[in-house]
Amino acid sequence: MLHTAQFLICKSCKGVTEIADSSVLNTLRGICREQNFVMQGASIEVVGLCAECAAKARPTRKSAQKQASPSSP
Ligand SMILES: [Zn+2]
Repeated sequence: MLHTAQFLICKSCKGVTEIADSSVLNTLRGICREQNFVMQGASIEVVGLCAECAAKARPTRKSAQKQASPSSP
């Protein structure tokens, strides 16, 4: 069985989440078949922001819903 892995890499916190999505592998297999390419392995790096960092990067007013700790003197 082919070893494939997809990595979601957060540019902000450098966190890496490894996922194994079979639909991605199936897509790659189809592409390789069309190209007559013999795939022996694949690694995919998706660069972006993780959920936490994306939330921090977007200071939306939605965060106003979290008023658990009001820090006003
Ligand atoms: Zn992050």
